[in-house]
Amino acid sequence: MSRSDAVNRRVVLAARPRGAPTPQDFRLEEVAIPKPGEGQVLLRTLYLSLDPYMRNVMNEVPPVYAPSVALGAPMVGGTVSRVVASRHPRLREGDLVLGGAGWQDYALSDGQELFPLGEMARPSMALGVLGMPGFTAYVAMADIGQPAAGETVVVAAATGPVGAVAGQLARLRGARVVGIAGGADKCRHAVEELGFDVCLDRKEPRFAERLAAACPKGIDVYFENVGGEVFEAVLPLLNVGARVPVVGLIAHYNDRTPPPGPNLLPSLMKSVLEKRIRVQGMVILDHYGDRFDAFRRDMGEWVAGGKVTLREDMVEGLENAPTALMGMLEGRNFGKLVVHVADS
Ligand code: NDP
Repeated sequence: MSRSDAVNRRVVLAARPRGAPTPQDFRLEEVAIPKPGEGQVLLRTLYLSLDPYMRNVMNEVPPVYAPSVALGAPMVGGTVSRVVASRHPRLREGDLVLGGAGWQDYALSDGQELFPLGEMARPSMALGVLGMPGFTAYVAMADIGQPAAGETVVVAAATGPVGAVAGQLARLRGARVVGIAGGADKCRHAVEELGFDVCLDRKEPRFAERLAAACPKGIDVYFENVGGEVFEAVLPLLNVGARVPVVGLIAHYNDRTPPPGPNLLPSLMKSVLEKRIRVQGMVILDHYGDRFDAFRRDMGEWVAGGKVTLREDMVEGLENAPTALMGMLEGRNFGKLVVHVADS
């Protein structure tokens, strides 16, 4: 029996980060494994998803993606879990479920927020291409991006789960897709494995110039995952009638004060006005009720048919989740970041 079979290990929020999170902001604890009450199940976490919104909920903020994590409480997170004990009328011991058990080995649930998965060859895919990030790309590209054949689509964080799926969906619609990623390996992957037409390394010099050269007909859709310097390079290249689904702004998640430099707001609004640009935010929680089933069906077919693929960046062990999350905020992940917590 391993240690984590005898106790519930959990990673709690020890302190609210000031800027970039540090190891001191997390604490690994061991507590007793809880017992399910009437109507509850006990879940064993198999895979934990690590996602950029987790940085936001470490702050004391109004709930947008998830409620703020209380000090001393386990970090929140999407999980694939196995039901190991059930006092629930419909869920059985052995069921594989998608849920939000957070950064811990075991959790109780009343079943309301659980999504039964059946048996899957690779259950961790339910956290990536077939889960929340893939769903985010699917809704934002279909509803806001709406790329047409021959249009130029630019996608930042191109090898992460949202960007990788967004770019492949634009390719399926016949668009020309320009990815942006941090590093040569990621860019090679975006072109060779994901089928992007071009991918630019955002860390190499003269990024704005290289982006302009890669988009000779301007940009029709910019799928915004990051903000910061990438958006500054994109803005002058947007075409009349461009669409900008605003999905994430990871370049700013660790900001403590507004970034220095000129105030770009007037030039942003001038471009929005004169070029009739549609800039629209999207929070995926709004769409589970009416779109998740169609997404699972469509994406399931595309994945099975080899039309959409996603690399996973698998981290071994719950205790390594803090380091992995800190790395993601610096672009050290390569693909969908998932923690393997226990064997299925
Ligand atoms: P990723 O796996 O793509 O991880 C984040 C990536 O962002 C990093 O790997 C890095 O990629 C890039 N990055 C980090 N810092 C910077 C920076 N300063 N400037 C530019 N790029 C940076 O994450 P996801 O695919 O899960 O998420 C992508 C975005 O979508 C995030 O902003 C996230 O918050 C957002 N999101 C929003 C949702 C919603 O409902 N609105 C739902 C899900 C995600 P690289 O090094 O390759 O540039």
